[in-house]
Amino acid sequence: MNQTLPVNAELLELLMCPSCRSRLALDYETCELICTSGICALAYPITDGIPVLLMDEARKPL
Ligand SMILES: [Zn+2]
Repeated sequence: MNQTLPVNAELLELLMCPSCRSRLALDYETCELICTSGICALAYPITDGIPVLLMDEARKPL
């Protein structure tokens, strides 16, 4: 196994954006979880492999 996923893929399947309940997509470059809703599109950090799905911690889109 040479996977370098910052977060478990099965866990990722279960995660939803806490703001709009959309699915999340993994951004490998920034190691963030990006909301797939074009309206919301918040970016959540992953800390030590744990997705931090808190709106207070999320990065707002530009
Ligand atoms: Zn969202």
